Amino acid sequence: MTTVAHLINGEFVTNVGRTAPVFNPSIGEAVRQVALADQATIQAAIDAAKAAFPAWRNTPPAKRAQVMFRFKQLLETNRDKIAAMISEEHGKTIEDAIGELQRGIENVEYACGAPELLKGEYNRNVGPNIDSWSDFQPLGVVAGITPFNFPAMVPLWMYPLAIVCGNCFILKPSERDPSSTLFIAQLLHEAGLPKGVINVVHGDKAAVDALIEAPEVKALSFVGSTPIAEYIYSEGTKRGKRVQALGGAKNHAVVLPDADLDNTVNALMGAAYGSCGERCMAISVAVAVGDQVADKLVEKLVPKIAALKIGAGTSCGLDMGPLVTGAARDKVKGYIDSGVAQGATLVVDGRQLSVPGCESGFFVGGTLFDNVTTDMTIYQEEIFGPVLCIVRVGSLEEAMQLINDHEYGNGTCLFTRDGEAARLFCDEIEVGMVGVNVPLPVPVAYHSFGGWKRSLFGDLHAYGPDGVRFYTKRKTITQRWPQRASHEASQFAFPSL
Ligand code: NAD
Repeated sequence: MTTVAHLINGEFVTNVGRTAPVFNPSIGEAVRQVALADQATIQAAIDAAKAAFPAWRNTPPAKRAQVMFRFKQLLETNRDKIAAMISEEHGKTIEDAIGELQRGIENVEYACGAPELLKGEYNRNVGPNIDSWSDFQPLGVVAGITPFNFPAMVPLWMYPLAIVCGNCFILKPSERDPSSTLFIAQLLHEAGLPKGVINVVHGDKAAVDALIEAPEVKALSFVGSTPIAEYIYSEGTKRGKRVQALGGAKNHAVVLPDADLDNTVNALMGAAYGSCGERCMAISVAVAVGDQVADKLVEKLVPKIAALKIGAGTSCGLDMGPLVTGAARDKVKGYIDSGVAQGATLVVDGRQLSVPGCESGFFVGGTLFDNVTTDMTIYQEEIFGPVLCIVRVGSLEEAMQLINDHEYGNGTCLFTRDGEAARLFCDEIEVGMVGVNVPLPVPVAYHSFGGWKRSLFGDLHAYGPDGVRFYTKRKTITQRWPQRASHEASQFAFPSL
């Protein structure tokens, strides 16, 4: 069995220590293994990044950006190969993998604007003969820890921007589907990035803890589940690091009686079942305002769920593949069991799905619950599977209260034709990313991505303008060149105009 290696200082490194199996979830078999970094391997990556930093920091931003232009081209040339790698280990469909890669490439395009993004701020004559400017300087060695569900896109949220800002980067991708992430990072060397500026180390908690504890690592970007996000935020900030830690989600879509129900149902299908529900922006709760809306939603959703094309992600033309691991499948089935036990109406049950030719794959079919209430586990927790819960409420205000009371606040969406209702929703909802008739309101690369409440720990969102601020520190310079003939007396009062 081949071993997915670390990438340190431009070289592939396989340590002889622990490994973990990497599965093809469509067939339910381990297809390779991944090296799990120990403390010494992490230190080697840190040393490489630290050594590369002085020269990279002083490389003009326009030259750093040129690497990104070539990187973008390489990503596009290798699109189909990367999509197949994502699909093989994650299970998502090829079309979905291409979509994820494309959204990742948009972050590379944004990073190509480095000279513009890093422009400072300047004021002449802030005092007599005094000029002042702010400069945005890199932090040094920074690290990113990423989840399994977007092995291409989420790392691309982080390192293109960190690198063009002048930092050196250590990426710790998910150990569940590491191959595409490694392949993509290695393309940066083909694009001309100096050795050591990007390093990829695989691993689990031990690797992450080594990154948290290392004083050389100045900032941590994390994307993953809320308990780990909270852990990394508290442990990282305790050590004086800058941390942005994006966590889990429970995204509600509110459907008002005036919504175009056919379009709404089509949107809900993709948002709930696309990528087998393994998206942090997946819609997992549909809040129907009024029983009539709920009844019609159920009526229209049932035949569409039955018609979902489910199979090995690597085949084309499908709607949904398997879950990522056997453990993920069992967890999702456990949630469905709990929904039944706690009294929700199971309208469509995906637990018994068997895919011909892929009988050992980690599949769960599209599942629909009606009459879900806020005290149920399936309402409170993130299921991260193809399960949509319908909650019935009497008004928009009631729907909004429900969302605002939930511990997560990543994404949400309102389906309506009523502009006044939409405006109220956008103003008052306690969620970081809001859609109006847009089910997955993932911000484009030149905005920034982040949730509220327990969906994000830290101050700055990921990528876009917030990403530039996260990966740089402001230095403000105040400068005067006294005229040779003038003598200035001491001034003991605090200087002011
Ligand atoms: P996860 O939290 O299990 O793993 C994320 C990363 O943390 C991986 O690299 C993993 O190796 C590492 N990790 C796991 N356990 C750890 C521990 N005990 N200590 C230190 N590090 C540890 O998440 P996942 O299952 O890979 O991804 C799914 C989760 O990510 C979902 O909750 C989803 O909502 C969330 N997610 C959030 C966003 C967002 O932008 N908010 C985006 C994608 C995914």
